[in-house]
Amino acid sequence: MSYVGPDFDPPQPRRSRRGPFTVAVAALVPGALAGWLVWQAVGNDSGDGGGSGKAGPRSSSSAPVSPSASATGDSKPRTSAIPSPTPSTSRPAASGPLKGKVVVIDPGHNPGNFQHTSEISRQVDIGTNRKECDTTGTSTNAGYTEAQFTLDVAHRMRTILEQQGATVKFTQDGDRAWGPCVDERARIGNAAHADAVVSLHADGSSAGNRGFHVILPGAVNEGAADTRPIVTSSRDLGERIAGLFVRETGSAPSNYVGDGTGLVVRKDLGGLNLSTVPKVFIECGNMRDSKDAALLTSGAWRQKAARGISEGIVSFLRG
Ligand code: ZN
Repeated sequence: MSYVGPDFDPPQPRRSRRGPFTVAVAALVPGALAGWLVWQAVGNDSGDGGGSGKAGPRSSSSAPVSPSASATGDSKPRTSAIPSPTPSTSRPAASGPLKGKVVVIDPGHNPGNFQHTSEISRQVDIGTNRKECDTTGTSTNAGYTEAQFTLDVAHRMRTILEQQGATVKFTQDGDRAWGPCVDERARIGNAAHADAVVSLHADGSSAGNRGFHVILPGAVNEGAADTRPIVTSSRDLGERIAGLFVRETGSAPSNYVGDGTGLVVRKDLGGLNLSTVPKVFIECGNMRDSKDAALLTSGAWRQKAARGISEGIVSFLRG
């Protein structure tokens, strides 16, 4: 959550059919959902919270990424809650299949937002509306913040994607006091001429609400917002990320939005409305549910999440 205000009632798109996601997953990652079902059936829930490093239900036959990408996922994950300071500007790209591709990672919120509530509550223009600059984000009941989570996953993704040759840029790296605002987050991706942008989040819903969902831009043409050129490509990006997130983490699609598809279309998010490049959000789980929180606070699970999202991006960029 956290990209909406506390009094905001998020739309709950009701779609009567479940076809698109299921079809997309089946086409992209055969066995992904089956793998999740097996994972659940054997009771091998990775919610140990302890970073055991156990392998998830990996599919070895359908990975659309090179072996080197998968290999990186087996490296020892960093588990520190506070990421080491690194520049948010782009770094030299290695050679690899994604050489020349620009990926912008948008770690939702900022650890400093909690100390700058007046700054982040100012209104910004999101095309369709005016909305808060940013929010603090949510946290687990034990106090692990969404902002810590998003930065950690972002760092893990950067490592994976740079090893594929991509140029990776962040919208923030804990290197500024607060923000950026949602409109600036969108502009950073636009200015970078990003080939793909992913905004990382974890939700703050009710206990019992579990699972991930990917948020896709709806078609908006109002004020400064015109998402029509990116709706189709963003859906492609989001479906690939959803499918590979299932495969890598074993997590189920959200049981409270998206009708089990793991996909939700929204027209009220400035970060999507103002984007001119393919972009999606992902809510990796619900921090306020104890079982999901156990996953989100596990370094081993975050490595799986980073791998799944990254492989979705790689799949999208390689076509
Ligand atoms: Zn958020």
